[in-house]
Parts: sequence; structure tokens; C-alpha cells
Amino acid sequence: MKAVCWYGTNDVRVETVPDPKILNPRDAILKVTATTICGSDLHLYDGYVPTMQPGDILGHEFMGEIVEIGSEVKQLQPGDRVVVSSMIGCGQCFFCNQQMWSLCDNSNPNAWMQEKLFGFGTSGIYGYSHLFGGYAGGDAEYVRVPFADFGAIKVPKDIPDEKLLPISDAFPTGYMGADLCNIQPGDIVAVWGCGPVGQFAMRSAYLLGAERVIGIDRFSYRLQLAKDFAKAETINYEEVDAGEALKEMTGGRGPDACIDAVGMEAHGMGPEGLYDAAKQAVRLETDRPHVLRQMMLACRKGGTLSVMGVYAGFIDKVPMGAVMNKALTVRTGQMHGQKYMPRLLGHIIEGEVDPSAVFSHHLPLTEAKQGFELFKNKKDNCVKVLLKP
Ligand SMILES: [Zn+2]
Ligand SMILES: [Zn+2]
Repeated sequence: MKAVCWYGTNDVRVETVPDPKILNPRDAILKVTATTICGSDLHLYDGYVPTMQPGDILGHEFMGEIVEIGSEVKQLQPGDRVVVSSMIGCGQCFFCNQQMWSLCDNSNPNAWMQEKLFGFGTSGIYGYSHLFGGYAGGDAEYVRVPFADFGAIKVPKDIPDEKLLPISDAFPTGYMGADLCNIQPGDIVAVWGCGPVGQFAMRSAYLLGAERVIGIDRFSYRLQLAKDFAKAETINYEEVDAGEALKEMTGGRGPDACIDAVGMEAHGMGPEGLYDAAKQAVRLETDRPHVLRQMMLACRKGGTLSVMGVYAGFIDKVPMGAVMNKALTVRTGQMHGQKYMPRLLGHIIEGEVDPSAVFSHHLPLTEAKQGFELFKNKKDNCVKVLLKP
């Protein structure tokens, strides 16, 4: 089969590789009909996530048709059309039982590697380094889906792929970002990053009862999408100081909640941005925490910070004094897909949200390299790329 393989920084290739096989009785094999490049895949493409190996198959946001099931798969049949959560959960451990699917105790065979970095291991993720289980990803013609009864959700056949695919990752990630804000009537929510996750976080903040939503970015076409798709007010941080603008837009109080939909490769401005870029380049800092610092200062006293952008390791110069003295609540996590997918599918079936708005480009899987370049360099007003095997 054809698959998109990682070979190093800025190096992905479409290669012919062996088809996946059922390895465990709870596995299923999926014929992929649509897959997409996630913002967090750019951290792999840019070489910032450790434990990638040449030849690893990328992709954690995908959907398709079940073509084979293991002997203990009970909820699925060949022919079922499904969307798969990017987080792999066993469905039976302490964490899965509490709907904290991305913290599953049983789905990451390399949890021991994470214990050194994080203290405990988290769930496996498709196509996202050996630290997250070393699973083959879904940027391929076929993919093995472990614990398939829990990770694959059946979807109606009469809704096109591009409307459903985002419930694999981008939509639940944005939705969880808003959910963690514990939004109350009248709340103002600010979202850093107007990429796909940011768009869904803004839209979800309204679904969960926010009164006003403000999107922050530096690309005018993404800010325009924030206005059109998410009905957000916007700030271009290259034109105005985002912190000052937020203060002004909130009557001097600051937003009630701040969502980080950017993560470890934030573009800092001024000397602080140069400091992070230099430290990250020589690996003295794994992540650039510009957005985190700004959220800590901009958030209103007693407010909530919700971190959905991916961080991999260590950051420094974090204003912990602001967090403590302003009594901020920090909430974060990889998304709990299996918890949110049924609810989000409902919103799509009811016609309340059309997630296909985030797909600016449709390409064949064989042009994945071009997709990565378009998305990384924000060429041709690229918001998100859908790949068709
Ligand atoms: Zn993702
Ligand atoms: Zn589990």
C-alpha cells in the first residue's frame, strides 16, 4: 500500500509499504477514505518531537471503511463507515472508565519512555513518534485500529468525508479546549491561534455558552475565517499588542478564559521571541512558550487558561507569579476523543456546525509532501489539507 513516511526534518515521502495486519483480537483494519495533516504533525515535520524513526507512517486524523475485524471486535462489521479518534484508548482501564481517554494506561507499549519525561505514561497516538506508542498512522491506504470497538465511531453514509473527518481530532481538541474553560453566561473567551483547532475552539466556546469570543493570529486569511466560520472578533498581533487590545476589548478586566491553540512553536515578538528561538535551536528548551506567557498576563484575575496546543518537554521564563497571585486555573491535556465524538457528530447531523469550512485544500495522498509545505508555510491561504488515498 501507499503511505506517507517520515524521514527527518522537512522530509516526508510517499512510499510503498506492507499492508497492516490484525495483530490482536480487538484490532480492525480500516481502508482510509480521507486523512489530514494536523498542526501537531508540523512539530514532527519540523523535527521537534523526539523518538521519530525514518520510515514511520504519519497521520492521526483519519476515517474510512472497516474491511477486516479481529475475533473479539463486537461493535463493528466490515463495511461500516467510521471516524477514528487520534487517541488510542483500551476502554477498560481506570482512565478510560472516567472518559480520560488520552490518559489510557494500556494503549502505549512505550509508556516506559514517557515515565522518564512525564512521570507516568499516557495513551498511544497514531503516527506520533515512538514516545506515543510507535503506531503506524493513517496517512495511508490502510491502517490498523487497535481497541477498535472504542476508537472508531460509526457515521452516517450520506454525509461527505470533509464534514466528518474533523471529529477525529481537530474538532474534539477545540471543543475540549472550550469545555475545560467551564464557560459561564456572559463569559469572554480569547483564543490564541486561528488554525483549525483554534477555529473549532472558538465555535465550541459559543456552543458552550460564551457571550463573546476573540481570536488572535497574524495571518489575515485565518482571522477572516475566524470571523466567518466562528463569528469571532479578531486581533492581529503583528498590528497591535495583543495584551493591550484584549484589555481594551474587555473593559479593562481581561478575558474570563484563554485558550492556547498554538503550542510549542509559537512565534514570539521582540527579544523574548529571539530568546526562545535560540534556546530551542540548541535544544536548551524544547518548546517556545510565548503564548503561555502572554495568556498568563492577559487573563483576568481568577480566570482559566486552557492549553490545547501541544508541548513536548521543557519551557522557561514562565511567569508563575502571575498564575499564583492572580489565582488562575490551568487546565490542559491531549483531547479525550471518544468522550466528545458522539456529541460533535450530533452537532454535525443536526446541521449546527459544518466542519468542512476548515479544509482549504484537497489533495491526493501521493501529494502529501506538497500538502505539508503548503500547510507549514501558510502558502496559498492554506488552513488545512485533506488527503485522499
Ligand atoms: Zn492532531
Ligand atoms: Zn484505557
